[in-house]
Amino acid sequence: MNEYDSNRILDITKKINYFQTLEKSEADCYIINTCHIREKATEKVFHDVGRVKKVYRNKKKPILIIAGCVAQAEGDLILKKDKYVDAVIGPQSYQSINKVIKEIEKKRKQFDLTNFDTIKKFDQLKIINNNDTNVSSFLTIQEGCDKFCKFCVVPYTRGPEYSRNFSEVLKEADSLIRNGAKELTLLGQNVNAYNDNNKRLSDIIYALEEKKGLLRIRYTTSHPKDMTQDLIEAHKDCSKLMPLLHLPVQSGSDKILKNMNRKHNIREYLEIIRRLKEKNPKIKFASDFIIAYPGEEDYDFNKTCKLMETVKFINSYSFIYSPRPGTPASEMNMVDNLIAKKRLTKFQNIANKIKLNYKKNFLNKVVKVLFENKMKNEKNQYFGRDEYQNPVIVFSKKNLIGEEKRVLIKKFSQHTIYGELVDSDNILAA
Ligand code: SAH
Ligand code: SF4
Repeated sequence: MNEYDSNRILDITKKINYFQTLEKSEADCYIINTCHIREKATEKVFHDVGRVKKVYRNKKKPILIIAGCVAQAEGDLILKKDKYVDAVIGPQSYQSINKVIKEIEKKRKQFDLTNFDTIKKFDQLKIINNNDTNVSSFLTIQEGCDKFCKFCVVPYTRGPEYSRNFSEVLKEADSLIRNGAKELTLLGQNVNAYNDNNKRLSDIIYALEEKKGLLRIRYTTSHPKDMTQDLIEAHKDCSKLMPLLHLPVQSGSDKILKNMNRKHNIREYLEIIRRLKEKNPKIKFASDFIIAYPGEEDYDFNKTCKLMETVKFINSYSFIYSPRPGTPASEMNMVDNLIAKKRLTKFQNIANKIKLNYKKNFLNKVVKVLFENKMKNEKNQYFGRDEYQNPVIVFSKKNLIGEEKRVLIKKFSQHTIYGELVDSDNILAA
């Protein structure tokens, strides 16, 4: 979502003639967009500010703005601690960034913009064209969260759940498709909680399914509690909806899920997976895990490992629990750090083994790849992703950007799969 927001910030600042520069030491204005989800976020900001100061030591000071969730959560502290920072702008206020830049140009005083006015934000953003021209583009449809998992800062930094207007979303999708998007990823902190006058996420997916030129639809991140039947049906009906679902579970232990206030248990989670597989046997799953949440014992951790082995997630993001200021879990007793580290290593070893076995399956199979760009340093090599978002590289003398092609997989490394273009119908089925 920060990538989407950063692109939108660029769309806005263009209006006052501030354009992106790749020359890091030549900027008139420096915007650092930040994430607060895990530890050391604020420290990193001061680190980044220090780097900017160093680069501009003998030059004119650029306008320096801290945007995003760290600005939202700790903006006043940042402004107080470092006068080099001209403004902090929260994720629901960046529509006003031009006003702030203009004010700073005039009188160098500090600005704090951390209001929660999501409606106003999207009202103002809808008149500014989304200039993203990527083959695979992001489209934010929902923001914020009302679920208050005990470990998470999102409800405090992004504010309450808000769904964008249905027709505005489709308008932006049309414009992205005109710009060349072949794949759209619908974004939201709780994307499947989307509800605009009873239009749900499934309604957006069915509408996008009809769009000529669009080849692939994805959505992220969904909460298990909001995996409603209409959305599950869409996985059967919509051929453009990719057969990979990122469905964070956090832990395999019901006790921990309850302590996290996750509002679902493992039986319900596995039931959702079963129902999705029933509708679309090709579907595979990715997930997020928090290791060593307060109160996690060996018994609970082993359940998380067991869940990994049961579902065989093809991708997983796992981190040691990180206490976030102001969240209820930050008051709880932490698991010993050494135990936490050991558990994370053990869990990631299991996850990597599962992933490796999954990748081995690919050898000599044919997969469908949507090509996104040309490799920078390699001649005639193109980068794309298969339906399960695995990165695939092929050699081609013909420009493949924006095309979906069948690729025979020849070899793989830890992160990348290499293949050759083919003309076969032998598509990998599962
Ligand atoms: N809305 C999504 C997740 C959004 S946050 C959901 O409910 O699943 C993205 C991921 O960051 C989470 O899935 C979680 O695994 C991780 N995360 C959030 N807060 C964290 C914390 N305090 N410590 C460690 N990981 C955290
Ligand atoms: Fe955070 Fe997701 Fe829980 Fe909301 S549902 S509080 S975004 S983890």
